[in-house]
Amino acid sequence: MSCDFNKKELIDFLSSQKGDLIKLLNLIKDIDFKNHITFSKNVFIPLTEVCKNDCGYCSFKKDPNNENTIILKNKEEILELLKEAEKHGCKEAMFAFGEDADYDPDVKKALNNLGYSNMVEYIYDVCRLTLDETTLLPHTNGGNFSYDALEKLKAVNVSMGLMLENSSTRLMNTVAHKNSPGKDPKIRLKTIANAGKLRIPYTTGILIGIGETHEEIIDSLIAIKNLYDEYGHIQEIIVQNFTPVSGIEMEKYPEPSLFDMIRVVSIAKLIFKDTDVSIQVPPNLNLDSSQIFLLCGCDDWGGISPLTKDYVNPDSPWPELYYLEKLTNDAGFKLKERLAIYEKYINKEWLNKELLDKINKF
Ligand code: SF4
Repeated sequence: MSCDFNKKELIDFLSSQKGDLIKLLNLIKDIDFKNHITFSKNVFIPLTEVCKNDCGYCSFKKDPNNENTIILKNKEEILELLKEAEKHGCKEAMFAFGEDADYDPDVKKALNNLGYSNMVEYIYDVCRLTLDETTLLPHTNGGNFSYDALEKLKAVNVSMGLMLENSSTRLMNTVAHKNSPGKDPKIRLKTIANAGKLRIPYTTGILIGIGETHEEIIDSLIAIKNLYDEYGHIQEIIVQNFTPVSGIEMEKYPEPSLFDMIRVVSIAKLIFKDTDVSIQVPPNLNLDSSQIFLLCGCDDWGGISPLTKDYVNPDSPWPELYYLEKLTNDAGFKLKERLAIYEKYINKEWLNKELLDKINKF
């Protein structure tokens, strides 16, 4: 990793206060900022709310025995949502779901009833349906996949994603990840690396406030940077703050402070300053404070849906686009819509002909 600062200095920045914090912000000020802050107008479709993991901070996963839980959306329901999204001008179909959900007998049965033997076959067909029947571009975000599964899904996705969360194996013994074998960073880093080998434009990120140390935050950012240096496939990094909500195991845990987030976003920008990797901070989790992140290097608001809620953070509605534009303009930037794939990847090195033709229709 090339960066002007060594690991110790980066860790120290995470404790910076007063003058030192202002020094950090001054370092960011000297980086060449983009004029535009981007977002992707999407529809967020949870294919199943069942998940093999059980993260202490999760408000997405639901009990398969609860009658309101989405076990598996059928194609008719999905197509109806996609068509509605088209009417709203959405360009991205974001498919999210619990990891390895087909471990669950109810999900397995629902898959079999639809003629599939596993989740990957089903997801492939959902993306194929999207490409065949709508103008939307699929982006799949559903946890770890094998190399072969990624290769299959690459053919029908313009980009894919997986949150690293954190590269610390220590967290596997804490409330955050003790019941989540899929959050083993070795497995997640391998998935991200395999996506790189397969030339899949990729979104990843870190979750702040789940019990990690400052060193573990820096290690995580460096791990992502090393993968980017090797494969060049990371198009954006999400810096997401843990937000406690009632009913989760970590509901009484403190959320990171605004200054914690300012420090991490700034350091992410420092580490990636010589790249065109975007830094994304979800505006719905920081509505009152989101503008400040634009001055720390955040240049992307991520997916914003005019139609569906953020199922991962159901208590945090996305801002209306007019409001997001107002916030962005007020900080001196322009709001710009982007696709689920960043421009530099729209070529035959990264996409097959079908996907390229589809994108070129916009
Ligand atoms: S955070 Fe993701 S991986 Fe963890 S339990 Fe929830 S849905 Fe599953």
